[in-house]
Amino acid sequence: MKTDYHIHTEFSCDSEAKMEEYVKQALERDIRMLCFTDHVDLNPDDYGYNYYNPEKFFEAFRKVKEQYGEQLTLCSGIEFGEPHLYADALKCLSAYPYDFIIGSIHWIGNMFPCQKVREQYSAKEFYTLYWKEVLSTVKQGGFDSLGHIDFPKRYYGEIYYVEPEIKEIFKRLLDGDRIIEINTSSLRKGHSETMPGKDLLQIYADCGGQYVTIGSDAHVEQEVGADYEAAKSLAEGLGIRQVVYRERKRVVL
Ligand SMILES: [Zn+2]
Ligand SMILES: [Zn+2]
Repeated sequence: MKTDYHIHTEFSCDSEAKMEEYVKQALERDIRMLCFTDHVDLNPDDYGYNYYNPEKFFEAFRKVKEQYGEQLTLCSGIEFGEPHLYADALKCLSAYPYDFIIGSIHWIGNMFPCQKVREQYSAKEFYTLYWKEVLSTVKQGGFDSLGHIDFPKRYYGEIYYVEPEIKEIFKRLLDGDRIIEINTSSLRKGHSETMPGKDLLQIYADCGGQYVTIGSDAHVEQEVGADYEAAKSLAEGLGIRQVVYRERKRVVL
């Protein structure tokens, strides 16, 4: 069943898309499940700092669900930045009736992999710092699926890791009964692989990872469901199954 479990709406600082427009596009594209996962960013350097408002989100979500809920399954979620640094805030937000929470690392301290940072740090240097943050966040938990695990790839265009460290990340993640997503947005930015690509997914499978969520990371409704088939066949080729979350519980499709 075609789904999209990572999309941004006007409740994210970097999107103006309306929930209803996503729903209309999804129905046209035969997408049967959608989960709205707006940004919650609490790093003071992020221009979406404190932008997210759960009350307003749920008000709009309930309206669109009332109108379209019989035509497709609509779910509520968030993409929470750096869960290990803002555990209390994440806990507070988790009291809302979300179906699904993505945990993502976008920032390392006050560093985002923008051009200025890329001029100062080689890919290897940046990734070395990045994986430490990822490890901290999988130890902390509080989320269901780890977002775009090799996120710097979207900016550096390459990936660097040492296998024991990645295995430790996957082990800690799976110990907490959490999983990763396959995020297809890198394909729309000219990269040849999803986030993660095949090599990391193979290590995930070797570590016992059985499930993934799949998301486009759309910020405009035209991107909903983008490259879903590519992500699904990549997962299936490695014996990994696609899942969704309802009321924070994993559902195998
Ligand atoms: Zn993200
Ligand atoms: Zn996102």
